[in-house]
Amino acid sequence: MSSSGSQPSIFSRIIAREIPATIVAETEHIIAFLDIAPKAPVHVVVTTKDPQYQNVVELAAGNSALLAELVAVAEQIAAERTNGQFRLVFNTGAAAGQTVFHVHAHVMGSPELTDHLGEDSLGTL
Ligand code: 5GP
Repeated sequence: MSSSGSQPSIFSRIIAREIPATIVAETEHIIAFLDIAPKAPVHVVVTTKDPQYQNVVELAAGNSALLAELVAVAEQIAAERTNGQFRLVFNTGAAAGQTVFHVHAHVMGSPELTDHLGEDSLGTL
């Protein structure tokens, strides 16, 4: 679903509390919630409340301070929920696996100590 279309994205509906999600962090501009279909022991979606940017490239060009705020929230979530080593994934484009066109990052990691972050421990999107 495109944020530029007539209907709000699924993330806008979560932000509006129209559909439930387990929200784990929220600031004035950013919200984070558990992914409904986790691909890792820790899998949190971090997104902007502003729906105008469809992907990280648009966000970087349009509001780099907001991108920095999103990354800071992601880092805080990782510090709280993972062993400190994590993936921060921005799928960009449908062919790359993006399904929600409202910019977001995936924080993926494990709370356990592990000597690698391979596909077997974190999976793929
Ligand atoms: P993308 O595929 O666009 O990179 O990531 C979208 C993510 O949003 C997917 O990992 C998907 O599981 C998650 N997702 C889609 N719909 C919902 C929902 O209604 N609630 C939550 N919590 N996550 C969702």
